[in-house]
Amino acid sequence: MKKILALLVVLSAAAQAPSSNVVERRFAEIRKNPLELHAFLYRMPKGGDLHNHLSGAIYAETFLKAAADKGLCLDTKALAIVPAPCSGGSVDAKQAQTDNDLRNAMIDALSMRNFVPGRESGHDHFFATFAKFGAVNSNDFVSEIAQRAADQNESYVELMSLSGGGAINALGVSTGLDTDFAVTYRKLEQSPNFASLVKGLSTRVDDMEQMRRAALRCDSAPNSPACRLQVHYVYQVLREFPKAGVFAQVMCGFAAAAADPRIVGVNFVQPEDGVTSMRDYHLQMQMVGYARKIYPKVHLTLHAGELALGLVPPDGLTFHIREAVEIAHAERIGHGVDVTYETNPEALLKAMRDRKVAVEINLTSNDVILGIAGADHPFPLYRKAGVPVLLSTDDEGVSRADLTREYERAVSTYHVGYAELKDLARNSLEFSFAPGASFWESAKYQAPVKACAARQSAPCKEYLEKNEKARLQADLEDRFEAFEKSIH
Ligand SMILES: [Zn+2]
Repeated sequence: MKKILALLVVLSAAAQAPSSNVVERRFAEIRKNPLELHAFLYRMPKGGDLHNHLSGAIYAETFLKAAADKGLCLDTKALAIVPAPCSGGSVDAKQAQTDNDLRNAMIDALSMRNFVPGRESGHDHFFATFAKFGAVNSNDFVSEIAQRAADQNESYVELMSLSGGGAINALGVSTGLDTDFAVTYRKLEQSPNFASLVKGLSTRVDDMEQMRRAALRCDSAPNSPACRLQVHYVYQVLREFPKAGVFAQVMCGFAAAAADPRIVGVNFVQPEDGVTSMRDYHLQMQMVGYARKIYPKVHLTLHAGELALGLVPPDGLTFHIREAVEIAHAERIGHGVDVTYETNPEALLKAMRDRKVAVEINLTSNDVILGIAGADHPFPLYRKAGVPVLLSTDDEGVSRADLTREYERAVSTYHVGYAELKDLARNSLEFSFAPGASFWESAKYQAPVKACAARQSAPCKEYLEKNEKARLQADLEDRFEAFEKSIH
């Protein structure tokens, strides 16, 4: 009897995960061969990319083509796209469609391609690119990001794409900033412009969505992988702006995210080591903490700790992540590279684990901007501390990379195994801001919620219908199953 029982146990285990064992074996064979590893990881389902800036995700070639199509010019000295008319040192952007020398010089200037640190640091070259392609409207190119993500078996992207410069910042500056945030917020709300500026952000999403759907032909092919890929938008506060302008940006962003379900959260951008960012950091976190109280349902992720020793003085490394977590109540942290330089890092890591604050890990970006890679990167430390982590691209166009590259780095540098890669992909949906409840009982991913104990049951179908996040997660499991079956 015992023997029969043992046999049944073995048989049922084999029935549960035959393809999984084959995949583990295949993965062990190829993990040290970068080319085979790439081919494997390119096809592997990767869930979502949660840290992705629209303009930084577009490749230089796309900007150059758009500049040519729209009759813009290229400043051949500054190597930047500039508005028409072309005069002095600028030439018709069409030239870069035929002249390889000009084209190559432009691509190098608009990205990290061929970058050699010298008088200019990687950090400075990286951030300088944004002004050089700023004359082209990035809103037209969500389709490029969606297509690239779908080609790599991703199913979800959160795109940082809206920002509060221009009129929103100007309204803030003209309104001023009282010591009591509530007083300033009342003044902003009473301004005739506030509601229309908030609505204007939704109109920008309308435009991006219309362009995306048209470029991907989603009306005629709604089930293509790129059209099935879910895109949501994240609003960006420009942290290098004046205090009053930043406050108006924060409140506008939270109001827009509360009103429009396509805008799923708020973030802060621009270099964290900038003079205003460093000086106003504490106040900016207090502003966000206030906005969180007014709009408790709006999600928040914050670039924090994208710093390194030497970039700023040592005391500048001691508090950004902690304040993002404890004062602003961020649900996710972008980068978190300097965590061990924070005051009492052990307690901070424990707090992040207990509060389930996920860290968006951007390995390529941290390498090219901060020069932080390998054993100097805290990716393994976060994992050891039980803090949820996920892999994301940050600026794949400027970095000339993609999400597959991030997975490759995780395997080749940090020896992450296949089962752990799956959990990284699962984290990218579990900790996403996609609306609705999770498919999983817990972020350990051992069992689905009760409604989905039987996946094909009516209660599960109803549950998935109601919860977009669960739907994406169930779809990821289907993709894993299909991927694993295809491996021999
Ligand atoms: Zn970023």
